[in-house]
Amino acid sequence: MEGAKTLASLGEFGLIRELFTPLGRKDELVDQGIGDDAAVFSIPRTQQLLTTTDTLLEGIHFNSDMDPFLLARKALRVNLADIAAMGGLPKWYLLSIAVPPNKPLEWLEEFGRGLKEAGEQYDVFPIGGDTVGSKGPVVITITLFGIVGEDRAMKRSGAQVGDKIFVSGTIGDSALGLSQRLGSLQVRSREDLVYLKHRHQLPEPRLALGALLQESSLPHACIDVSDGLVADLGHICAASGVGAEIDVAKIPFSEAAKRQVADHGEALLGIMLTGGEDYELLFTVAPGMAEQLVADAAEKTGVMVTEIGQVVKSDDHKPVVLKDGEAMSLSGQGWTHF
Ligand SMILES: [Mg+2]
Repeated sequence: MEGAKTLASLGEFGLIRELFTPLGRKDELVDQGIGDDAAVFSIPRTQQLLTTTDTLLEGIHFNSDMDPFLLARKALRVNLADIAAMGGLPKWYLLSIAVPPNKPLEWLEEFGRGLKEAGEQYDVFPIGGDTVGSKGPVVITITLFGIVGEDRAMKRSGAQVGDKIFVSGTIGDSALGLSQRLGSLQVRSREDLVYLKHRHQLPEPRLALGALLQESSLPHACIDVSDGLVADLGHICAASGVGAEIDVAKIPFSEAAKRQVADHGEALLGIMLTGGEDYELLFTVAPGMAEQLVADAAEKTGVMVTEIGQVVKSDDHKPVVLKDGEAMSLSGQGWTHF
């Protein structure tokens, strides 16, 4: 009887051909996609190119038993969140994947199906890639390209003293979902468990909101919350040469997250504010300028935007989280990579 098809039996080129080539699409800006030594594409004269890359490592960023259909979608979405934070339109990506040769073909097919689904949902497609056999874990690197109008990209470096600080969606759900997965949090309700896990496994890149913010010209600085609310606000502070004060009472938490704090105590707040992988947008706007923007965000993109604090003068360029007017001491300052 023939054994299960694996990467080894199919070979690298067979894999690329069978799984990834069909994901390519026609695009007037792409002269050459998958199938040559390099891709060839142009960007419109009035636009600038955005590029971002993100690597997911088995055992560090995802468990071996993670559903490959989910994994592929997450791998694309975390990159899409970076393009959203710059206010751009995502276009094409490169995929590099290292897989053990004994990986079942089914796993790769599911991974390809996830890429296809996310590609169709967000209108992006691969223009090239590389697959290699791995003696160790699965490693997935996606490099995403996007475009944005000339001088229109929203950077981290423009925050000004007096600006109000805003964040989209809710903060901390993903960190709680991860804590549950790691066994350090017991989530009582089944419904909350499903919600928090979903928020961790399948973040929502805020592309429509990013575009709306960019078109408004109002944000002075913008970032996506990948390392944790406090750490990413710290990135804005450092790049802009300012400080920031946010009030924990104003930070938007989901009902599910609030129930975890009620069940397990306020120590969880530290995890929620520093855990990361929220992929929400964090941005600053001059005082009194954002009312219409917040209303438009809700109406046109369905995303809630909440004011959580202000940009202040500071010598150390570090954000402060206030609780009842006192600075909170947080155990971590966000996810550190090494
Ligand atoms: Mg980012």
